Amino acid sequence: MKLATFLSDGKQRVGALTPDGLVPLPASVGNDLGELLHRKLQVPDLQRLLGAHAGPALNPADVTFLPPVLSPRKIICVGLNYADHTKESALKQPDYPALFFRTASSLIGHGAPIERPLCSDSLDYEGELAVVIGSGGRHIAKNRALDSVFGYSVFNDASIREYQLRTPQWSIGKNFDATGAFGPYVVTADELPAGAKGLLLQTRVNDVVVQSISTSEMLHDVASLIAIASEAMTLEIGDVIVTGTPAGVGWARQPRLILRDGDTCEVSIEDVGVLTNRVRDEATH
Ligand code: MG
Repeated sequence: MKLATFLSDGKQRVGALTPDGLVPLPASVGNDLGELLHRKLQVPDLQRLLGAHAGPALNPADVTFLPPVLSPRKIICVGLNYADHTKESALKQPDYPALFFRTASSLIGHGAPIERPLCSDSLDYEGELAVVIGSGGRHIAKNRALDSVFGYSVFNDASIREYQLRTPQWSIGKNFDATGAFGPYVVTADELPAGAKGLLLQTRVNDVVVQSISTSEMLHDVASLIAIASEAMTLEIGDVIVTGTPAGVGWARQPRLILRDGDTCEVSIEDVGVLTNRVRDEATH
């Protein structure tokens, strides 16, 4: 199933994409995918609800998409997880994944503007595969790790490079408001290859392809990332792992490609979805 959290007629809903359109699920599933997951609803439950209690189909173009999980307890991001991106960054490839965190307050949905802050002209895109955890735990073995995954989505880990690179800790440049684009759909794991491997990931800026790679090229695959993260911390329902970006980021190009007001950035992952956001300058207050 392809599931989304959205606003329609002022109401926040969870819905499933069907051949007829986006079908709202009954309010009993919760207000976003995080609540749905906490209610332990599985794909067969959702299919039953979709058949019996769902509302009329909506045109996806008529709704306002929100981040599928509105407030994950943790958003674990992975840096330097594709060798070609590490090479263009001039950083050394670490053996252990470069984990950092995003705050939920930096998230936006499909179609919402990515904000270029007034303090810096260094906004960059990072197309990535996102993993939504359906059942958590600590010390999850790699060979069982994919059982923890509810589904996969598309993420744009938009970054303010000048701030990211001011110190060895990248967090501030990765947490400006309205820079973490997420969605539009979470595709349940049963519809994709194990670990979402072998899918074409592409980023386009104003319709020009700037990143293109297979998700199989990740250095630490989804199962490894779950095992590694859960060695340190309990993964919880609705947590999100953002798995890293390949080569082609704007900051590494000659000349640099900086996102500016009016640009359109689109990240697509085969069979997962297309995440589109325009760039807008921060308003002057
Ligand atoms: Mg990233």
